[in-house]
Amino acid sequence: MTLYSYSRVNTYYTCPAQFQFRYIEKRPSPVAEGIELFLGSRFHETMEHLYHQVPQKIPKVNELMDFFKKHWESHWQQALQKQKDRNFTEPLRVVNASQTIEDYYKKGQLFLENYYHQYHPFDQDKTEGIETRVAFNLDPKGEYKMQGFIDRLGRDDEGVLWIHDYKTSSRKLSQEDVKNEDQLALYQIGLSQNPQYGPKEKIKLIWHFVAFEKDQVVSERNPKEIEWLKEKYISKIQTIEKAKSFPTKPGVLCSWCEFLTVCSEGKTWVENKKKRSASKEALPAPSTFSETAASLPEPISSAAKVEKEPMVVGSVKAHNLKPKKRSSSVLSSDQLPLF
Ligand code: SF4
Repeated sequence: MTLYSYSRVNTYYTCPAQFQFRYIEKRPSPVAEGIELFLGSRFHETMEHLYHQVPQKIPKVNELMDFFKKHWESHWQQALQKQKDRNFTEPLRVVNASQTIEDYYKKGQLFLENYYHQYHPFDQDKTEGIETRVAFNLDPKGEYKMQGFIDRLGRDDEGVLWIHDYKTSSRKLSQEDVKNEDQLALYQIGLSQNPQYGPKEKIKLIWHFVAFEKDQVVSERNPKEIEWLKEKYISKIQTIEKAKSFPTKPGVLCSWCEFLTVCSEGKTWVENKKKRSASKEALPAPSTFSETAASLPEPISSAAKVEKEPMVVGSVKAHNLKPKKRSSSVLSSDQLPLF
């Protein structure tokens, strides 16, 4: 019986061919790790380091920055070694040609600094788990099983359990968008089946889009929504298990796909996209609003609405941010842009 994860299920729906390469054929990646994943891993390690120390000791912001630097450098050395061993063309894959590895490093520093000053002294809740594994059944017979890892689990003064998730991408989901985000709600199912917690726990889901000065978006799921979610994922898994073919599904995410070099449809899509962008650049500047709107880049998902740019290096006066207690109420609608 296959143990599914949120990303395993959703890879199939993003592109069945990518699912086949990664999970059925278990092909090693033909290219180096992407810089976005590399940055995300270093940020997560630093958060783990921080919350392992709190509340016994609150590290200074510089200690956190040093930790981040040390781990960035040691993993960079590993990436260089892997490049040699596997004959990759580069140690880390950077898709966005306008950005350098150094830019991503600086972004990581900025995300940390902003997070630190926003949440210091980190007493919004008490950490009960870091990288907590949850494994759970979607059906009473246990035929459909999933697992996942919660970045951080905290309990506030009112007894509410908070499932925290850190996102380093430059796309921030709005309050409306997170209602349709299933990952943390699936982890809620995991906690409800864990004897340490159980179904009576009051649980809130919190996403930290750390590329944004106001990073958090909070949501909740009621029992009915949780039951729908179980049915939804049973149905998704049944579709995957019945699949006889795994066609390519070219789209905006092909540029970031590790199998792009071995996927002719993906390559064609990316090349055509580049040509379309080049011809748009060659057009005269639009003179009306409707022309401008028509030339906007395609959104990553139909639900996504671009509202505000993420932080850029040098833009945040992090030291002016006051430490604050998190409100337990659901936050108002918030920003979300694309890189
Ligand atoms: S390059 Fe695109 S179409 Fe090809 S496997 Fe990757 S995501 Fe699918």
